[in-house]
Amino acid sequence: MSYACSVERLADRLGRPIRDLRISITDRCNFRCVYCMPKEVFGRDYPFLPRAELLTFEEIERLARIFAGLGVEKIRITGGEPLVRRDVETLVAMLARISGLDLTLTTNGALLAQKAQGLKDAGLDRITVSLDSLDDEVFRAMNDVDFPVDRVLAGIDAALAAGLGPVKVNVVVKRGLNEDGVLPLARAFRGTGVVVRFIEYMDVGHTNGWRLDDVVPAREIVAAIDAEHPLEPVESAYRGEVANRWRYRDGSGEIGVIASVTQPFCGDCTRARLSADGHLYTCLFAVRGHDLRALVRGGASDEELTAAIGAVWNARTDRYSELRSAETADLPKVEMSYIGG
Ligand code: SAM
Ligand code: SF4
Ligand code: SF4
Repeated sequence: MSYACSVERLADRLGRPIRDLRISITDRCNFRCVYCMPKEVFGRDYPFLPRAELLTFEEIERLARIFAGLGVEKIRITGGEPLVRRDVETLVAMLARISGLDLTLTTNGALLAQKAQGLKDAGLDRITVSLDSLDDEVFRAMNDVDFPVDRVLAGIDAALAAGLGPVKVNVVVKRGLNEDGVLPLARAFRGTGVVVRFIEYMDVGHTNGWRLDDVVPAREIVAAIDAEHPLEPVESAYRGEVANRWRYRDGSGEIGVIASVTQPFCGDCTRARLSADGHLYTCLFAVRGHDLRALVRGGASDEELTAAIGAVWNARTDRYSELRSAETADLPKVEMSYIGG
């Protein structure tokens, strides 16, 4: 069988193609969000990856091209905080040269005001900014490094001015922490073209002390916004879209909800993740990755890498969120800051 033929048929055991690749380019971050990198765990002595363990930009670009050859259409650069990796603009420029790719990045926005134009100039298509509250006190408590919300808002403005739109804003909603901020966030961005996406707090990793009671179900969020500004559902734009989209009936824009806990969407999950040290994960909740860096540094050819990635994807059966249950609750899991959110 020719290689081209097998690529056309790349699908996992549940018939899902590979369409999206999230590349974590660092496991470090300048925030310590309480639901992601709690300070008590990610403290001064935390063993972050040494530089030599990180994939180089050349290694990332090479793997990205191979993934594109296997059907990946969209790459999201993430982390940790991707904007803390030195010369990230150079990597963006290298990835932007891969034809046919939609290139996006997710950031906490802390360094965005000074970096937005450079990222756009390097060829970034779009950006997602995480912003959990507009209330400065709540925001500072959630990022847990006392970072002011105004500087993230300035980053969003800079991204819009640079033409990195449509900008999306990600909000992780945790019961009792920032749920009161849902309506103010919806109000603030309604009519601006910025799409706010409310994300159910997930049980990723094992350090955030997740409990089901902490999850604010997406339907509750939609109901609260709908009561103030009536909403109607929008058809999803493509297979594998994670957000349920809703538009304001008065035409003033849309919101999204990512209901990974209460309405899992594994059946359409076309996402692969590459960790900062070059391990391929086929699920956000995977226990173990496949070491592509060892193959790359061991001299594997493009064909060998293609075959290795294809074999991993073809064997994939992951659907953690659909199975989330007493049996899966205690599985060891990798941290989101490492695997890439
Ligand atoms: N540092 C960047 C940022 O915060 O945007 C990129 C990496 S971060 C891990 C990617 C996304 O994952 C963020 O939008 C963040 O809010 C989300 N996230 C992190 N931990 C989460 C959790 N336990 N449940 C749901 N979303 C989470
Ligand atoms: Fe850092 Fe993003 Fe995790 Fe917050 S969510 S700690 S900004 S990686
Ligand atoms: Fe995809 Fe795994 Fe999330 Fe299901 S749990 S949607 S398979 S990443």
